[in-house]
Amino acid sequence: MQAVSEYRVDRSVAVIAFANPPVNGLAHAVRAELAGALERARTDPGVRAVVLTGAGGLFSGGADIREFGTPASTAEPTLRQLIEQVETATKPVVAAIAGICLGGGLELAMAAHYRVASGNAMLGLPEVKLGLLPGAGGTQRLPRLVGAERAIEMIVGGEPVPAAGFAGTALIDSMTDGDVLAAAVSFASSSEVATTPLPRARDIALDPRSLAASCEAARTKLSAMRPPLPAPLRAVDAIRAAGGPFEEGLAVERRAFLELMESPESKALRHAFFAERAAGKVDGVTPSTPVRPLDQATVIGAGTMGAGIAVSLLDAGMPVWLVEAEPAALDRGLARIAGIYDAQVKKGKLTAAERDRRIALLRPTLSYDDIGQADLVIEAVFESLDVKRQVFTALDRVMKPGAILATNTSTLDVNAIAGFTRRPSDVLGLHFFSPANVMRLLEVVRGRATAPDVLATALRLGRTLRKVAVVSGVCDGFIGNRMLEAYTKQAWYLVEEGATPRQVDQAMESFGMAMGPFRVGDLVGHDVSLAIRQRRRAERPDYLVSTLPDELCRLGRLGQKSGGGWYDYPDGPRDPVASPEVERLVTSHRASLGVTPRRIDADEIVDRLVYALVNEGARILEDGIAARSGDIDVVYLTGYGFPRVRGGPMYYADQVGLGHVVRRVREFARNPHGDPGFWTPAPLLASLAEANATFAFQS
Ligand code: NAD
Repeated sequence: MQAVSEYRVDRSVAVIAFANPPVNGLAHAVRAELAGALERARTDPGVRAVVLTGAGGLFSGGADIREFGTPASTAEPTLRQLIEQVETATKPVVAAIAGICLGGGLELAMAAHYRVASGNAMLGLPEVKLGLLPGAGGTQRLPRLVGAERAIEMIVGGEPVPAAGFAGTALIDSMTDGDVLAAAVSFASSSEVATTPLPRARDIALDPRSLAASCEAARTKLSAMRPPLPAPLRAVDAIRAAGGPFEEGLAVERRAFLELMESPESKALRHAFFAERAAGKVDGVTPSTPVRPLDQATVIGAGTMGAGIAVSLLDAGMPVWLVEAEPAALDRGLARIAGIYDAQVKKGKLTAAERDRRIALLRPTLSYDDIGQADLVIEAVFESLDVKRQVFTALDRVMKPGAILATNTSTLDVNAIAGFTRRPSDVLGLHFFSPANVMRLLEVVRGRATAPDVLATALRLGRTLRKVAVVSGVCDGFIGNRMLEAYTKQAWYLVEEGATPRQVDQAMESFGMAMGPFRVGDLVGHDVSLAIRQRRRAERPDYLVSTLPDELCRLGRLGQKSGGGWYDYPDGPRDPVASPEVERLVTSHRASLGVTPRRIDADEIVDRLVYALVNEGARILEDGIAARSGDIDVVYLTGYGFPRVRGGPMYYADQVGLGHVVRRVREFARNPHGDPGFWTPAPLLASLAEANATFAFQS
């Protein structure tokens, strides 16, 4: 396809459309052809004005990420040069904006002399999400067009905003609900379009005092964030420079952009971005692998997970049968689903009509006889192999041939579950995270017999549900919970040795984890992990783990659901306070072990917990449970609250150096508290460290 897919002259207006599916990314070919088309319009005496538009109903998603880091991304004409060409054109340029207009796309549109947009076009400068700032004039033109406050909000927040919100600002000259291109051509040929002087964003003067005040306020707020991130702060500084001469502002923006490109935060965020894209590449699945239809789904079990999974499917417009074992449980499940939607309506996130439309897609039932025609079944009943056996035996009996049978088990053997059916190739794990309608991670567990088209369909389901699907092999806990077990074990040992739950949580939260391990435990509920430990103790006689959490359960402290766990919660779930009862428990537990408590600093806490993740992650790679270290990072970033600016545990380990990680692991091994074998470096970790290599390089 030609990068400029259309050049025609209509009523003395040259219409230039550029195309680069899927999002009209501003690749080198697009920039070069656009520059040529603009020059053609300049020299064509029959052309009075130009309309610039993206093909396929959208303007542009910005830079072409396929060119990221390649020479093509900076080859001339650069985006900045193209933008300069548009802005200094002698004939008026009108941008016709529909669909999305993001990043470099919006920067290009802001260089046009006029903008005509459809009200629901999404405009945004999301660069901050990659630890960068708009590097092609965005920080200079946007404040001039929409004012400092709104520019700061958009550039620092990075979220796209509907064009309709900019009515009355200089960003949008004309809004339409109809055909944007036709409206733009009419606009360009109308008397509204001046030929001299052409209005240019760069010529708008901002009041430097109010600009400085807005920037100062934003800076204060951002500096208070922990950890303070460089990109939003540098963006605010660049916006502040928009109060001075335009060229100087551009130079400030350029310097900041180049510095941010080299910042560890941006590198980590870009790693996270590309790791998410790479997670979709799965051994044995190619673009030509067939995908099964996914029109109707069934969820078995309407508890915490079943209700959330049903909502996630309903949100994607899929009709869902919801199966429960008895009427009261079904009623509770329906109430749970209604509760999730009512909360969204109350917060203004959903209209009442939309809630009703989604709930109308739900088909509650107590009978397996109703569900046979579903394309996909997701089982979310109790975590017991016996109950799963009953369910999968029944599913095997009633489901139509070709239906995909999935289990949401957290820890059970997916191969054993597949073995309860006569069609193990149709069975896999779809491991959602709580709350299932919110969390982005979907672990797709590939069984020994899972067919490639079943896997391909699961990956597509992930996209349909707007989740990030990561494929895991079968093992106890899959990628995420297997690593979490090592992490949590160390958290408990740290308390046995002298730390308090709050100290551990604070150290991890300062590191950037969304929540420390003890707060997470209180949220999830300790009865769940107790059942898992009991099973593991029965299955593996050599299984070593602290008994402290068992004693906590014995006190009836099951977490927030029972009013308290590691903490008390007198002022609600967000406000954990130290519990005297837990302090007494910990003291007597240490005494029973003969441990004299020692002072443990935050560095030891962070290193022990994070390197426990890394060492187990290395074993997961060795075992072939995860295909690449980036997949492990994605699991931790999207499912476990690992700080995105640190790129995930494996990326983090690569940055600190695997040699350093192994030295720390060996230091920890000298303190054999709890589990003498725990700190044996995984062979893969040790050999990569020895070779001065990284996880990223080997995978
Ligand atoms: P839950 O106890 O809240 O819900 C289980 C539901 O299944 C109950 O409503 C129960 O009535 C129903 N049920 C039991 N037997 C049934 C049967 N034979 N037919 C139909 N319904 C039946 O449990 P949950 O927390 O939603 O967990 C469900 C599954 O999801 C478990 O395998 C669990 O390991 C897994 N999981 C849980 C979480 C979590 O954070 N809670 C996260 C990921 C996965």
